[in-house]
Amino acid sequence: MKRLALLFLILAVFAGCGGKSGGKAESGNLYKETQELMGTFATVRVVAGKEDLPRAQEAVNKVFACLRHMEDLMSFHREDTEVAQVNREAFDHPVAVSAETFEVIKAAVQFAKDTDGAFDITVGPLVKLWADAGKAGRLPTQEEIADALSKVGAAAKIKLDEEKKTVQFAVKGMSIDLGGIAKGYAVDRAIEVLRAAGFQDAIIDVGGNMTVIGRNADGKKWTVGVKNFFRKNGYVEQVEAENMAVSTSGDYERFVVINGHRYSHIIDPRTGMPVEGAASVTIIAGDGMTADAWSTAASVLGSSKALELLRKDAKYDDCQMLFAACTQGFRDYLAPEEEK
Ligand code: AMP
Ligand code: MG
Repeated sequence: MKRLALLFLILAVFAGCGGKSGGKAESGNLYKETQELMGTFATVRVVAGKEDLPRAQEAVNKVFACLRHMEDLMSFHREDTEVAQVNREAFDHPVAVSAETFEVIKAAVQFAKDTDGAFDITVGPLVKLWADAGKAGRLPTQEEIADALSKVGAAAKIKLDEEKKTVQFAVKGMSIDLGGIAKGYAVDRAIEVLRAAGFQDAIIDVGGNMTVIGRNADGKKWTVGVKNFFRKNGYVEQVEAENMAVSTSGDYERFVVINGHRYSHIIDPRTGMPVEGAASVTIIAGDGMTADAWSTAASVLGSSKALELLRKDAKYDDCQMLFAACTQGFRDYLAPEEEK
């Protein structure tokens, strides 16, 4: 399955734990479980002693239920979600959504403004156009791109009613895709579930969107490996993390190839074209939703513009960025990797 391309946990955690997927007590006081959801893998690690194990298991079950609930609300790829209903009906009439979906859409509209339109959930028509082009093996025409672009623009074309929690579209054929933000938000909600269950030391990672709280099983800061998106195996850096979100965007396996050229799954909403070159962007932020949205946005903006926009807005003072980029052709020179 294409969306499962992120087979490698994009951000790997080095916590003295070499366990397999599935719920299990790790060496020391760590309980770990991995499940497949949101088109990728989610891993929860909780510091819990032997006596706390049943409680930890129960809490982790609740975490996965929470993540699945977010998927049920916000998936772009399913017919039965709130987002799918919004995409079908929001031009005809305002569509009422849950508080969670509303919060994400509202935040996304603000991110569109803060990123000069680089992060834009109304990329739905462009995402579909490029996915279809990949399947057909031909580039979209200029007319098709122009038509899709006329339906893009979260800041101007999404109407929100805070009281009624409704969403309405200004242009027929618009659609929203929360794929660049919903995982980070879901991790934030899942962390709340863990805290409410009494666990203060944990990591939740959904497809490279990770939030870290408290300390590891040795009482030290967690060390998280930042995935090198140009490679299957390997990390560009290791980060000492405590109470923060770390999110990486890139196109290691999520892309389409048309006429031998590789096109990213991240689309520039200003031009309608997939982001050129290849980048691996990691954002550290106070919350998962911000880290997720900005790692996608920075992939579109490029490093200098992303830095400029992040640094001019005081609300992003605690955000940090690591940006690695190369030209498409650089990949041809990468030495083969050893299979692990
Ligand atoms: P991420 O993996 O978080 O960088 O998100 C990438 C996903 O976000 C894509 O697969 C699309 O579903 C969606 N997306 C693509 N381009 C954009 C964009 N410019 N702004 C917001 N979401 C996007
Ligand atoms: Mg993102």
